[in-house]
Amino acid sequence: MTASPLASADAPAAPLERFAAAIGLRNILTADADTAPYLVEWRGLYHGRTPAVLRPGSTAEVAAILAIANETLTPIVVQGGNTGLVGGQVPDESGREVVLSLARMDRVREVDAAGGTMTVEAGCILERIHAEADAVDRLFPLTLGAQGSCRIGGNLSTNAGGTAVLAYGNTRDLVLGLEVVLPTGEVWNGLRKLRKDNTGYDLKHLFIGAEGTLGVITAAVLKLLPKPVAREVAFIGVESPEAALDLFNRLRGAAGSSLTGFELIAHTAFDFALRHLAGARNPLSAPQPWYVLAEVSSGSRALDVRALFEEVLAAAFEDGVVTDAAIAESLAQGDAFWHLRHGLSEVQAHEGGSIKHDVSVPVASVPAFLARATAAVEALVPGCRPAAFGHMGDGNIHFNVSQPVGADKAAFIAGWDAMGTVVHGVVAELDGSISAEHGIGRLKRHLLPGVKAPLELDLMRRIKRAYDPNGILNPNRVL
Ligand code: FAD
Repeated sequence: MTASPLASADAPAAPLERFAAAIGLRNILTADADTAPYLVEWRGLYHGRTPAVLRPGSTAEVAAILAIANETLTPIVVQGGNTGLVGGQVPDESGREVVLSLARMDRVREVDAAGGTMTVEAGCILERIHAEADAVDRLFPLTLGAQGSCRIGGNLSTNAGGTAVLAYGNTRDLVLGLEVVLPTGEVWNGLRKLRKDNTGYDLKHLFIGAEGTLGVITAAVLKLLPKPVAREVAFIGVESPEAALDLFNRLRGAAGSSLTGFELIAHTAFDFALRHLAGARNPLSAPQPWYVLAEVSSGSRALDVRALFEEVLAAAFEDGVVTDAAIAESLAQGDAFWHLRHGLSEVQAHEGGSIKHDVSVPVASVPAFLARATAAVEALVPGCRPAAFGHMGDGNIHFNVSQPVGADKAAFIAGWDAMGTVVHGVVAELDGSISAEHGIGRLKRHLLPGVKAPLELDLMRRIKRAYDPNGILNPNRVL
């Protein structure tokens, strides 16, 4: 084995040679050109180093890797689609952390349309799961801008949210069972399809949202839902977040759980999309201070979704709550409205540095949060451009702040923590969360002691020690 490419890697040769024996040399990447895509994340905030990227093809191979890692104390970092926004999936700069990629484990093991379940491997790309559900006239509702590249194991591990949480819940709510390899190499087969099962601790919920710190998810039983038969999407102009909240309550009151999306967009964020997103155009005839993208869908043809939308919007217009609105004339136009919304994250990169805050507050406090946080960041960095948008129906705002025009990007980004302190201060005043859906990872790890009670943190550490006694899996993430 001494002549193998592994001999030139930074890490001690022994574990790498054992990994090679377990999964085959061709499934281990060590050349810089091959490992490069695994070492940097979407925002370019973290650039890591690694002795190797391991690409197992089965649960047994993942188990073999973790058993070796546990025995040799080799730190392992788990990676799915590498779209995570808190740096957890990228190795650190030590050059010691080995990347375990789930990308090859992307089989759909079973689609059970009658039972409303799909069993998939962790490396399945979310968009493929949508397509497989659609093929049997079912819906898997988890929807996010990264769905073309994020993988279900990553979605589960981050308990991803997205734009359909309002009606269908977070990823946690869409899962019946999991298969997990523990850091010791033991395999827990919890691939149950049961809707009811009160037999003690529900262990799957520990792994969901654990950001890969407790085990490697290798497969999951997902819930499939009936596909809506009617869907209407509207793009709406409002004067203020207060008006958006009023509209939210009107639509929620009229549509109930048929309100499947309610997104708020500040004009600055929307202007960025108009400037930088290919083919983007304003569906409304004039610019508005704030925009709402709302979706109503129904599983029953008995509900006239369009008439409901028109009625609520007409009344809101008369009462001065809405200033302009366009209901999509076709499914394609509805998708084009959503394309504008999903493009909001990526276009911010074209406007220089952007400091991100993924926060949540009680829904009724969203207007107060936006007013106070905007005033606070403008006082801190005069000329900065808050470009907020987000899932208003869930009280989750991506309070992203772009650098002043012409400012130095590096100097602006250097103020990330200072800006975070003032924004998170407003979040705390309103009893909110400093991470609504992206997680803690490495980006917010230092903030956790400030938002968790000592006992809560201690319980988390005790759980980590029980599952990963040698601390080899996703070390220094979350805790
Ligand atoms: P990765 O980035 O590869 O990993 C994320 C974390 O999970 C890491 O800690 C990693 O170690 C761990 N992990 C990955 N796979 C496994 C596994 N099989 N077992 C154990 N641990 C694992 N997020 C939202 O919640 N809502 C949004 O609306 C949203 N929109 C986004 C839009 C864009 C354009 C982008 C780039 C990201 C967005 N995200 C959003 C963030 C991201 O897409 C989600 O966090 C997603 O769930 C990550 O999936 P992934 O496969 O890319 O995971």
